[in-house]
Parts: sequence; C-alpha cells; structure tokens
Amino acid sequence: MNKDYIKPNKFDCNLIVLGAGSAGLVTAYIAAAVKAKVTLIEKDRMGGDCLYTGCVPSKALIRSAKFLAHARRAREFGFKSADVEFDFADVMERVQRVIKTIEPHDSIERYSKLGVECIAGEAKITSPWTVEVNGKILTTRNIVIAAGAHPFVPPIPGIEDVTYYTSDTIWELRELPKRLIVLGGGPIGCELTQCFARFGSHVSQVEMLPRLLMREDVEISEMVMQRFREEGVSVLTNHKAKEFLIENGENVLICEHQGKDIRIAFDELLVAVGRTANTSGYGLEELGIPTNSNKTIQTNDFLQTSHPNIFACGDVAGPFQFTHTAAHQAWYAAVNSLFGDYKKFKVDYSVIPWATFTDPEVARVGLNEIEAKEKKIPYEITTYDIDDLDRAITDEEAHGLIKVLTVPGKDKILGVTIVGEHAGDLIAEYVSAMQNKIGLNKILGTIHIYPTLAEANKYVAGNWKKSHAPKQLLKWVEKFHTWRRN
Ligand SMILES: Cc1cc2nc3c(=O)[nH]c(=O)nc-3n(C[C@H](O)[C@H](O)[C@H](O)COP(=O)(O)OP(=O)(O)OC[C@H]3O[C@@H](n4cnc5c(N)ncnc54)[C@H](O)[C@@H]3O)c2cc1C
Repeated sequence: MNKDYIKPNKFDCNLIVLGAGSAGLVTAYIAAAVKAKVTLIEKDRMGGDCLYTGCVPSKALIRSAKFLAHARRAREFGFKSADVEFDFADVMERVQRVIKTIEPHDSIERYSKLGVECIAGEAKITSPWTVEVNGKILTTRNIVIAAGAHPFVPPIPGIEDVTYYTSDTIWELRELPKRLIVLGGGPIGCELTQCFARFGSHVSQVEMLPRLLMREDVEISEMVMQRFREEGVSVLTNHKAKEFLIENGENVLICEHQGKDIRIAFDELLVAVGRTANTSGYGLEELGIPTNSNKTIQTNDFLQTSHPNIFACGDVAGPFQFTHTAAHQAWYAAVNSLFGDYKKFKVDYSVIPWATFTDPEVARVGLNEIEAKEKKIPYEITTYDIDDLDRAITDEEAHGLIKVLTVPGKDKILGVTIVGEHAGDLIAEYVSAMQNKIGLNKILGTIHIYPTLAEANKYVAGNWKKSHAPKQLLKWVEKFHTWRRN
C-alpha cells in the first residue's frame, strides 16, 4: 500500500459505494440493512445498465418480438391468420414505458428510505479512505467500486466512418432498419438479432468464430442457429469483419470468409462484441490498483483490491457479467468490507447460472461438455428431448433439450443445459439442487405438477435412473414374479 496516504482518525461513512447499477445498489442495500452508514454515488442514472440499456429493455423488446412471432404462427394455434399492424417506434416507446415502471425500484427515493445516502455526481477515489464528489471530500472506512462496464468497439478500419449502435444507444432507434448488421454472436448479439429479424429487418449476424453462443455445447448453439436461419437471419459464422466502407452512399462491410472477401451492404450496424470494465477516470490509476489482462479490476477471493479496504464487484470486477452475479458478489463486498476485520467470506462461484433469452432460450448452470473436457472432469450425460413433453405439445413448443452432466455412476449433478421454452425458469430447479447438493434421485422423487414444462426436469432424472437401474436385481425380481405366478 502507498504509504503517502494518511488514514483519517474518524470517518464520515462506513462505506462509500461507487456506482448505482445492480452491483452498487445491492451493496448499498445490504450495508444499510446492517445499519452501516453508507453513501452511494452515481454519476448518471440509478439502476445502471441493467435498467436502462441491458436486461430490462432487451427483455421488453424480446417480449414484443415474440408476440409478432406468435402471430405469424397463427395457423399452428388454429387461427386462419392474425395480422399485426405496428409501428416500430411504438414498440420502442413501450420499452421506455417498461423502464419507467421499474425505475422506482432503483430510485434515490427508495434507497434513501432504506437508509442509504444517495449522491448524484461523479466520484473520484483520492486515497484509500477518501472520495471526492461534487467538490466535496468524504472520508470512509471502506470503498466498494461498482463502476460497471461499457460496450467494446473493435478498431476495425472504417468503423468510425459509418454510424454504429451499441447496446448503450440502440434503444434510441425509432425507425426499423431495413438491413441490419449485428457484429457479434454472443448472448447480447443473439438476443437483439432475433428481435430485429422478427420485426422485419433483414439481419446479417457476423461472427468470426465457427458458431454463435460459442460458450455453449455444439448441438446447443446449433439449435439456436437453426432457428435463426428458419426465421430468415443470415447467420454468418466464420466471417471476420475486416473493413467498413461507404460506397456510393451505401454502407458496406467487408468480411473475410474462407480466404475470400465477402461484401455485405447494410443500413445500420449494431456492435455487440463484448463489454470492457470501466476502470479509468476515477482514481484507480493514481492509487495503483492493478487490472487483469481483460481490463477488469484485480481482486482476491474476498473481492479486495490491492488496497484491502477497497473492494470491487459486478461487471467492473468480473469474471461474470450478469445482474444476478453482480448481486451475488455485492453481498460479499458489503459483508467483507464492513465485517472483514473480524470474519470474511470467499466468494462462492461454484453454482453460477445464466440464460440467453433467444427463442429457444438457452439456460445453463455449472459445467457443460466443453468445460468438463477442458478441465478434464469425468462425466456422464443424460438427456431428455422436450418434443416428447405433454405441456410443450399443448403449447406448440415441443422442441428443445435438457442435458445433464453427472459424476460417473452417481446422481451428483455437475451441470445442466436447457434449450427450449422458458429454459431460464426451468433451470432454477437445478440451480437449487446443485446449491443444496441434491442429486437426480431426489429430483425424480419430487412431485412435479402435470402438465407443466417443469416435468421435463423430472423426466431427465427418470432417464438417468433407467440407465442406472440395478440390472442384476431386476433379473432376480423378474424370476421372483415368475415364481409367484406359477
Ligand atoms: C443488452 C444487454 C442485455 C443484458 N441482459 C442481461 C440479462 O438478461 N440478465 C443478466 O443477468 N444480465 C444481463 N446483462 C448484463 C447486466 O446488465 C450487467 O451485468 C449489470 O448491469 C452489471 O451491473 P454493474 O452494477 O456491475 O454495472 P452497471 O450497471 O454498468 O453500473 C455501474 C454504474 O456505475 C456508474 N459509475 C461509473 N463510474 C462512476 C463514477 N466515477 N462515479 C459515479 N458513478 C459511476 C455508472 O454510471 C453506472 O450507473 C445485459 C447487458 C446488456 C448490455
């Protein structure tokens, strides 16, 4: 630690939280709940990315796009047709209405009532115990950095000459692009690709890797890609964006594909190739707080930075970039900063779930095959095809898969991937099972309501049981029954 900093004798606050996104809000909430004097500083809007440019607007847009997709399937549901007239601007206004409805949950009013002092302003950490905001210096025993991340824009030649959107700005669109390029095949790119395609844009999704959703197993991302193709998306995997040009007033992207140049003309561009942690401009450099190679702040298992009273959580710390992992880390950041001198807790990353809200949804907890192989962890696979499930059939959603990895010969769950309708909800049973060390036998022995999609969870457990049936014992029992008949 830099010895030039003088530690104050007394502090204005127990904790200052820098940034009021998912991570900062939950940190402040917990600190106030345990009666600490906590100050939350936000330079822009309380709620951060999740509320304004992330989870909330994207899920609202997905819902509207799904309505259209269902209307197009009217015949499947027994209707002759269902024509939907719409103005894209109204759909985008609906997204803003949804944000406005949720806004009070993250507001200064709510957090003030919870006992958090909220300050609107840009914070700068001036020493391990002082933070400057609006020209005032506040002293604090601890600091939690929850400054979030921003979309990464790759330095592709010509990209600054064409207008591009990112997940920060796409919500300003009011006119549906005719031809949209989505650069990036990760979750954000996939969710938005499908939305725009469903509204009627011709979307080319450009990804340099061989698959979309590259972190998922091959057949899982193939199911999503297959649906995208069916819905008219040009899925351009193995396409490396090389250059943007404006030719005769038209935007053109040059991609390299199998050694050849491919030209794609487009009207609008959405860049969704990843997010970079916000680590500059608020004192990290001056304090010498190190960052990782991916630019997230370096923290130890307790979320402490190189200054033991300065913690980091959420997107700025990684390794995950989700609202629920930000909230998970926030508990550790709050508790370890306030009580760590007496007892501190290592962050538990053993059961981390996530979902990509495409149609079909993809949800995962724990290991998939790719990761199990990488980590050389032995596994067995059990699957259940959702096309067989009564409720999925009644809902015209009879597609998808549950894939469970277990310890060989045991019912202990190593990881689960679900593809299909409401996968993000269905996975909760496995998250809870893994967290509480419940195996497939117990899931099989649990009553699931008929007819629900959740029954699929029981059926995959049933498939596991069948393949682990005690064969010798069953042979003996068969003989026993034969004997009883004679
Ligand atoms: C399109 C999209 C869809 C997404 N969908 C999902 C989803 O479905 N589910 C999910 O779990 N996650 C989703 N995410 C990810 C999720 O939004 C983020 O993981 C989450 O918002 C991270 O929260 P955070 O608090 O770490 O950062 P942020 O929400 O970015 O908050 C950081 C805050 O810090 C403030 N700040 C920064 N510097 C300072 C400073 N010096 N002084 C004061 N304030 C400062 C910023 O203004 C900002 O408000 C999505 C993201 C995107 C972009």
